[in-house]
Amino acid sequence: MKDFDIGRIRADFPLLRREVNGKPLVYLDNGATTQKPQQVIDAIIHYYQDMNSNVHRGVHYLSQISTDAFEVTRRKVQAFIHAEHEHEIIITKGATDGINLLAQCYGKAFVHAGDEIIISAMEHHSNIVPWQMLCEDKGAVLKVIPMNSDGELDMEQYQALLSPKTKMVAVTYVSNALGTINPIAEIIALAHQNGTPVLVDAAQAVQHLKVDVQALDVDFLVFSGHKMYGPTGVGVLYGKEKWLNAIPPYQGGGDMIKDVTFEKTTYNELPFKFEAGTPNIEAGICLAAAIDYLEEIGLDRIKAYEDDLLAYATEKLLAIEGLKMIGTAEHKSSVLSFVIKGIHPYDVGVILDKLGIAVRTGHHCAQPVMDQYRIPGTIRASLAMYNTREDIDALVAGIERAVKMLL
Ligand code: PLP
Repeated sequence: MKDFDIGRIRADFPLLRREVNGKPLVYLDNGATTQKPQQVIDAIIHYYQDMNSNVHRGVHYLSQISTDAFEVTRRKVQAFIHAEHEHEIIITKGATDGINLLAQCYGKAFVHAGDEIIISAMEHHSNIVPWQMLCEDKGAVLKVIPMNSDGELDMEQYQALLSPKTKMVAVTYVSNALGTINPIAEIIALAHQNGTPVLVDAAQAVQHLKVDVQALDVDFLVFSGHKMYGPTGVGVLYGKEKWLNAIPPYQGGGDMIKDVTFEKTTYNELPFKFEAGTPNIEAGICLAAAIDYLEEIGLDRIKAYEDDLLAYATEKLLAIEGLKMIGTAEHKSSVLSFVIKGIHPYDVGVILDKLGIAVRTGHHCAQPVMDQYRIPGTIRASLAMYNTREDIDALVAGIERAVKMLL
């Protein structure tokens, strides 16, 4: 594809040059986590070699430069998702951490017995269980937007579920198990007509398509650093200022306070109210390098390249006899989930691994999705901007070999 220097991009990722089981690595497990470019690795080394120090505490030089670098990340995230204010960006441990934070804090203030929370049939466990826990605590009820056999949400049913009892709609932007891109703007608009805020799980979105929280008018949004070419142990919870001011903090501790006496503590202002204790400083600082990397290449170009690769891979995989694609929505991003008649997904995964090809097999932390299709799991190849048609050809050849061995 012209305008997309895949050779240069691949050269930025040192791990892609290694061999696995004596074969060149073909890494197709990007939905689980992405590899890191040299720019991010260098930023991590630079942090420990030149600035390691705790943030938001010291008056000394190192603490000031690490604090400044940490706050640079916050501003980069703000620009990356086009938030109105930098204090609307809460640095978390990851998407799961952000959802748990929100479910607990929002739940404490706004959810009562008999209220309802709406999620969708294709959520990752991390956008199911925290809401389930909240519902159990509060005597609230979890409602689920159903999906059709292509893996598309039933928008009529969704509208029917919305009611004065609905206190939150929490939906994924892109499904990690199916690749479906949900009509998130429409989901948000309908919830708002009902007076209900929306959380979007963008863990599988921000690395593949441009996300603009103001254009979407979304109330809360989460994602993880490690799925967008950044470090593990860091993520983001975005929340509209009015909501973040209206909900109580999650954890107590250092950084989140203004004043502490044994009688009473007053909380710090946003965003620190939600950031108790020492954060993952290195990951927080180095997330900025991942954002720079994505922005330098450009999400529009990444999306065009990955869409082309997804179309190529879909066509090639569907030509394999007995292969059934799970997740055939009209709008998809970067995920190929499939089963092969008569063969357990795990067995295919093991043979592919012997050939140096990394895919994921199983339920992908989306067990209800597998239940709906009445399958134990799928084989999932998930794409990143550094994957190529050669990777797909290797995958197809590997599957054909596995089928010959297993059938
Ligand atoms: N949401 C989706 C859609 C995901 O795919 C994942 C991870 O696979 C998560 C949430 C959880 O992300 P993390 O494990 O980084 O917290």
